[in-house]
Amino acid sequence: MLITTEGIVLKQRKIAGNRRIIVIFTKNYGKISAGTSINEKGKSKAALALRPFTYAEYDIFKGRESYSLNNAQAKRAYYSIGEDLDRFLVASKLIEYLDAILEEGQSRPKLFDMTIEFLESITNTNSNYETLLLAFVAKTLRLQGIMPEITCCADCGKKLADFQKEPGQKSPFFSVNAGGIVCEECVDREKSTGESLIFKPSFDIVSVLQYFNDNPISRFEKVALKSDIKNELKNIISRYVSFYLGTNVLDDDISL
Ligand SMILES: [Zn+2]
Repeated sequence: MLITTEGIVLKQRKIAGNRRIIVIFTKNYGKISAGTSINEKGKSKAALALRPFTYAEYDIFKGRESYSLNNAQAKRAYYSIGEDLDRFLVASKLIEYLDAILEEGQSRPKLFDMTIEFLESITNTNSNYETLLLAFVAKTLRLQGIMPEITCCADCGKKLADFQKEPGQKSPFFSVNAGGIVCEECVDREKSTGESLIFKPSFDIVSVLQYFNDNPISRFEKVALKSDIKNELKNIISRYVSFYLGTNVLDDDISL
């Protein structure tokens, strides 16, 4: 069966017989590994579609046990990503993150559209790359079914308004293990077990997570987070993602 789908290349590797395995995040079929004899360094139009950070349409033959990529047409090449080291490093981290969280053959059209939005946004801006990545990862929490609880204590269910005296002023505690904000009593209990990852953010984590959730990626092209807040948030989200998804994409230093 021949299928045609939009996609972007996540990675590739050489195999025998001058062929390659191309791992593509496709819009309609999720992550697919397909064999091909098209060489990305070639001069054909299809070669361009195999390069990193190219949004393309792929013609793929679906066999009984494997896929093979017959042809491809580039729709948009994000050249500027390859021309700036910081932009390139951040965009590469996004690709690495997608490769880690996507499962073969599981269709993820919303995540795909968000990926294209990210590539557009990182191309539109000359700074803020890491905030865009942070926004992307934060927005995937809901799509991955691990959105932190931010309306009530994730442990006992007490409403936020009942344990936060000045709404929006101070941040409640945030517990990675509990999966969201927690009240002071539950913090004490969690701390006594000694194994919990608990944060007391210096900013209001409830409104920040809500803001990330409610706004499109493009909004973050111009949002300049203070660097200490950005680092704190990055640390929390990074620990959270690594705890629930087992991937550590935000957890090293990109100075921007
Ligand atoms: Zn509680």
